[in-house]
Amino acid sequence: MIRVGLGRDLHRLVHGRRFLLGGIELVSDKGELGHSDGDVLAHAVIDAILGAAGLGDIGELFPPSEETWKDADSMELLKAAWGLVNRAHWNLINLDCVVICDNPKLLPYRDRIRSSLAQAMGVSSDAVFVKGKTNEGFGPLGEGAAAEALAVCLLEHEDRYGNNTL
Ligand code: MG
Repeated sequence: MIRVGLGRDLHRLVHGRRFLLGGIELVSDKGELGHSDGDVLAHAVIDAILGAAGLGDIGELFPPSEETWKDADSMELLKAAWGLVNRAHWNLINLDCVVICDNPKLLPYRDRIRSSLAQAMGVSSDAVFVKGKTNEGFGPLGEGAAAEALAVCLLEHEDRYGNNTL
């Protein structure tokens, strides 16, 4: 069996915060506001993998109302979410992501972000792709007031003998 998952997130960008994408810090005068570290890409990926496996969503697993998750490292949240998905016998076929943000440009960081996400899920970085898109100056995304991330993933299920249940 194969299943697709979709995740989307948006965070405001403010001064005095780090700009993290998939655990990699970008050089920027603004960063993501959030209860956790605000890593918008990690959050979209978490929702994509949980959605594909039918295991809930990020807000359910790590409620922003809980003090435990204040300033949480989102890559640790991703590892925990992937652990749940993997223990339910799902493997990743591929993950594809889009980050929408006019500044800074993502390309110089792209391969480091791919490796970081792949490492968190114990897969090859060939299975993970990330691309940056601008919003052509339009709206909060184009004006640098927010960053948005979209993630889609394909998971395959394996039976108790380790065979893919396609
Ligand atoms: Mg978020």
